[in-house]
Amino acid sequence: MPHTKTRIAPSPTGFLHIGSLRTALFNYLAAKKNGGSFALRIEDTDRERFVEGGVENIIQTLDWAGIKVDEGPYLKEDGTIAQKGECGPYIQSQRLDIYKTHVQKLLEQGNAYYCFCSKERLDELRSAQQEAKEPTGYDGHCRDLANEVLQEYMRSNTSFVIRLRVPKEGKTTFTDAVLGDITFDNSTVDDQVLIKADEFPTYHLAVVVDDHLMGITHISRGSEWLSSTPKHILLYTMFGWDIPIYAHQPLLVNEKKQKLSKRHGDVSVEDFKAKGYIIEALINFVAFLGWNPGDEREIFSLEDLEKEFSFEKMAKSPAVFNREKLNWYNKRYMMQMDLGDITKRAIPFFINAGVVDKTQVDGLEEFEQLKKIVDLERTRANTLVELVESVGCMFAKELVYDASLLVWKKSTKEDAKEKLIGLKSLIETISEDGWELEGIEKTIKDWMVENEFGTGDTLWPLRVALSGQKNSPGPFDLVYVLGKEKVVKRISAAIDMI
Ligand code: GLU
Repeated sequence: MPHTKTRIAPSPTGFLHIGSLRTALFNYLAAKKNGGSFALRIEDTDRERFVEGGVENIIQTLDWAGIKVDEGPYLKEDGTIAQKGECGPYIQSQRLDIYKTHVQKLLEQGNAYYCFCSKERLDELRSAQQEAKEPTGYDGHCRDLANEVLQEYMRSNTSFVIRLRVPKEGKTTFTDAVLGDITFDNSTVDDQVLIKADEFPTYHLAVVVDDHLMGITHISRGSEWLSSTPKHILLYTMFGWDIPIYAHQPLLVNEKKQKLSKRHGDVSVEDFKAKGYIIEALINFVAFLGWNPGDEREIFSLEDLEKEFSFEKMAKSPAVFNREKLNWYNKRYMMQMDLGDITKRAIPFFINAGVVDKTQVDGLEEFEQLKKIVDLERTRANTLVELVESVGCMFAKELVYDASLLVWKKSTKEDAKEKLIGLKSLIETISEDGWELEGIEKTIKDWMVENEFGTGDTLWPLRVALSGQKNSPGPFDLVYVLGKEKVVKRISAAIDMI
């Protein structure tokens, strides 16, 4: 068995798409499962779609995800891009000579040809085909140009592209590790452009040349690339190279079975990171978009996946990107993670939201306090952003809210005031030495029973007085975490507001 080598070959056209994270993950896992290696290659030959900072984002995202790249570009400490590995460069715009040499071979063999058709001619051709409801594609106008005509075009410096000479007859067949045998009639395959007028290769030529020269043995990619695969197989055959194993992933769709796109919500990994999704949860969720272990288990760390993943267990039918399921995963990971760890990860979100500044979380005591606060909400919030929103009130110097919120729906202003006055006196009697959750809860509950006070009309005003919010952590938690001084101050302020 040859050494397994896989790759992710994204184009730097913006923030890395969640679908590309899945591609990276599946390829990385296939390599790890077989003790192989995983490469990153940057496919930047489409210069019009190139986005500044795109390469850096790809590297940083894979790094955040814990997907380790054995070969390819990486970021040095000073933020500049360097490359490692024996098969470089790993950035296609730095490999133009390699593509030229290879296309030359195809020209010599007669497997590629020059095409001088103008943009206008091609546009007209396309419109006519569309009108006639025929499949669109090149009509082979320059496929068999007489040598003198070709030379004349060359002498007059007419701009040209180089196209693949797809056989007119026969079939191209390959076996996909997920989909099984796939056959295309060659008559349906277009004479694909291999070198564009700007002398850059197209994706099709570059991907095949690079995958071969880099020794890639397995390729998993989205099924939107399936229709390109016969062109790739033809190229491998023309070059006389071994064909790698393909494993096309099922389409990624939203709950309405539409293609996952920006118009219907977040799609870049960056979006999910900014919302406060935990990377372990995101990885677990993404792994299940087109793969499952074949039994009931749902919780998998990256290491578990490295042991269990296989192309054979990939699904054929579309994978639904169910955001509720993602929230379910995230909540689960937030609940089960070490409290110190989750608190550390929450800190940038607290700072970003302007809830705390850096000095408020620097000391050990402050960190311990923050841990308590995070613990209050981590079983309820779906994301770190939600967590910060719901506990942000705990840091406010002064709460600003509508006083009518203090009144429980079946109660009155006067009653709310009376309860708050009573609660304030009661809490003042609790000693700070015995300040712990269970004791506080018991003291307040006993007092309510003794006075025959209802739960809603007592605890609602207390909770609002302490949080200023409709939704917040529970009242006893708030009393405990805020501490006696702040609690008394907030209740007094609420009493004054009524
Ligand atoms: N550059 C292509 C992309 O952006 C790579 C497709 C492939 O894996 O062959 O997804």
